[in-house]
Amino acid sequence: MRKLSVNQSIITIAYILFLWLPAVAQQPVAYRASAPKLHDLVHTALEVRLDYAKQFLYGKAAITLQPHAYPMDSLQLDAKGMEIREVALLAAGKHTPLQYSYDSLQLHIKLNKTYQPGEKYQVYIAYTSRPNLFKSEGSAAISSAKGLYFINPDSANAGKPVQVWTQGETEANSVWFPTIDKPNQKTTTQISITAPAKYVTLSNGYLTAQHNNGDGTRTDTWKMDQPYAPYLVMMAVGNFYVHKEKWKGKEVSYYVEPVQAPYVKQLFGNTPEMMSFYSSLLGVDYPWNKYVQVVVRDFVSGAMENTTATVHGDFTYQNNRQLLDENIWEGNIAHELFHHWFGDYVTTESWANLTVNESFANYSETLWSEYKHGADGGDYTNYNAAQIYLTYSPEDEHKHLVRFDYDHAEDLMDRVTYQKGGRILHMLRNYLGKEVFNKGMHLYLTQNAYKTGEAQQVRLAMEEASGKDLNWFFDQWYYGSGHPYLDMQYAWDEASKTQTVYIQQTQTGKTFTLPFAIDIYVNGKKERHDVWMKTKADTFRFVLAAKPQLVNVDGDKILLAKKTDHKSLQEYVYQYFHAPLFLDRLEAIQQAAGAQQDGDARNMLVAACKDKFFRLRTAAMDSLNMQLPEVRSAALPVLLAIARNDSSTLAQAAALNAIGRTKDSAYLSLFREKINSRSYSVQAAALNGIAAIDMPMALQYAGQLEKDSKDLLSWAIAGIYGRSGDTSKLAFFSKQLDGMFINRKSRMIAGYLLLLSQTSNADLFKTHFDNALTHIRDYKQYKAQGRFVPLLQMVHDKKEAAHLPAQSAQAATAVKEMSN
Ligand SMILES: [Zn+2]
Repeated sequence: MRKLSVNQSIITIAYILFLWLPAVAQQPVAYRASAPKLHDLVHTALEVRLDYAKQFLYGKAAITLQPHAYPMDSLQLDAKGMEIREVALLAAGKHTPLQYSYDSLQLHIKLNKTYQPGEKYQVYIAYTSRPNLFKSEGSAAISSAKGLYFINPDSANAGKPVQVWTQGETEANSVWFPTIDKPNQKTTTQISITAPAKYVTLSNGYLTAQHNNGDGTRTDTWKMDQPYAPYLVMMAVGNFYVHKEKWKGKEVSYYVEPVQAPYVKQLFGNTPEMMSFYSSLLGVDYPWNKYVQVVVRDFVSGAMENTTATVHGDFTYQNNRQLLDENIWEGNIAHELFHHWFGDYVTTESWANLTVNESFANYSETLWSEYKHGADGGDYTNYNAAQIYLTYSPEDEHKHLVRFDYDHAEDLMDRVTYQKGGRILHMLRNYLGKEVFNKGMHLYLTQNAYKTGEAQQVRLAMEEASGKDLNWFFDQWYYGSGHPYLDMQYAWDEASKTQTVYIQQTQTGKTFTLPFAIDIYVNGKKERHDVWMKTKADTFRFVLAAKPQLVNVDGDKILLAKKTDHKSLQEYVYQYFHAPLFLDRLEAIQQAAGAQQDGDARNMLVAACKDKFFRLRTAAMDSLNMQLPEVRSAALPVLLAIARNDSSTLAQAAALNAIGRTKDSAYLSLFREKINSRSYSVQAAALNGIAAIDMPMALQYAGQLEKDSKDLLSWAIAGIYGRSGDTSKLAFFSKQLDGMFINRKSRMIAGYLLLLSQTSNADLFKTHFDNALTHIRDYKQYKAQGRFVPLLQMVHDKKEAAHLPAQSAQAATAVKEMSN
């Protein structure tokens, strides 16, 4: 599964689509064992009929089971919030009623006899699923858990498609069909869906039959003959355009709303290449009979890896102009696909071990990036994920990666399981070497195919592949918490030609065992020293030919740690030009950014504006202090060239933003030229540049551009309208916010409130202020509404100063509400 985020990232908007939430105070909870396997699911045959008016599903389930290890005379099935109409034993087409009781969560069935381990039997259940009557508890990762969702079922919202879709993980599929809703079960399935004939249906596996019922409905039958976990069963029904491709003879399709058809190939077109890449990396060909991705409205998570039929939320949609800047969903497309090995083919045995699904899927984004966009691309992806763990979640330092003491299963869907877990795999790959690590993944997959796995099985596979004991690594990273805080100091002794590197682990608590490289650059040549740090403070001494130009601790830049490095500025400058990695250069850019009066640092920063990797060009340009005359004169020729010619529109935009910070009217013609770009980012930068020079002209442009504006451009327009005081622009905000995904709303809301703070019209204020509050309330589910308090306070203060007591009282109420 892929979560969503309301937090913005360090470098790019690519990462605004994650969601990470403050943790709630933890109560000590009991050990969460894997679910006992009393019976095995074998096969699940469903016939379901959708009732859009009632938002019900009428189902008939024929479930084949067998006792797992011991003779059994009773069976419990998960069946949440249903109305149960019949429970019977099914044999030779005959229904024999079975005694049962039902407590609205589970069916307790008395079987007709004692069945022996491995002895198959079939139960039949007729039921009505009523998802809206079931009181579900959502979570940070999944905003609801009712399993089955009817979107706009009565077509009340004219512009919105009518859809039905499901979301199972963690244990919500038992709202729409009875099952043993645990990740350590696997079943084959046959699902017959009766729905309005005008719609397309989708489920797991291949379509075996379509029958027109002559009453406006059609019954589609989907069959999946490879076993998979109940939480991965899915169904989607709606008016979808289907784009079909092939990979090694298998269907690869993308289901989108018809209006999105022109962009579908550009959006998902890397999928076959991803399938080839992961198949060859893992030594296991994509193991399922097809791969479909469907985009649905109002999805309750980011994306979900249902076997052969991944669901993405509608924030996936990007038009060709957005895709010109970047495909912000590429990592998620890779992530869900990779789950088809780590998650679907081998499934976590328990939610406590979710790392074997999600850490791998998270890391697969780095692997894909590295393959597709080179070493810098992979390192960038890896770095961003590391920052999300290190920056956003101090409370996560106390959580084990494998966690048996969780409160809710959904709690595992956090930065520890995803971002930290992915970085732990990155360290493991570095320690073992890429080929051995890949071999370890291959062994884990082949040894546990169609079964379940836990972290210990990953350890055993990696140990088998490498011939190394890995207990220390797994104890430290999987069954322990936290990360090291490293303080690095250096001393050079000319007399003895000795370089001393003094490293301290300053975190409280445990000591980490860390293998890493120290690269020492002497006379322009790099010497690598592989070292182990096993104590809280370690001193490493190297006798060298001459004083080194650079000592680069963690030469492969793999350690998941908070680092304080006491290198000199000169060393960082040297590092930029001589050390090869993305992070070597980024660290240097970050240091130089704080020392732009220094000539060497400044020259390095300007050189970095031309770095071979556009993310670093962007980082360097973003950091330029254009108020310093010496920076301006050194950087402007470079920036002007980039603004016009860079192959990356994001780099062009960064150059324009830097030029715009001069507020120099000499560049007005450049901005007016670039405002015609196809890239929203470039247009936004140009518009901001114009606004800094000539506000009325910017307002005029904003009026022309607002019809086709998205992302950064919408935000730029929001900023300009917000400052304009022109209340006729309030409609722009309400319209934009309506169709906007929550992660993109906050700057729009900021502009909205700024503009509202300037109106004295009571009716306008009330209507739009209430509307703004509706959007702010959406942040409550992520406990992120507090970020708007300063803005609301600003509205209040301005209203008070303007002697508008009714409006100021409204704002005060809002401040109070959002402060809680
Ligand atoms: Zn996932």
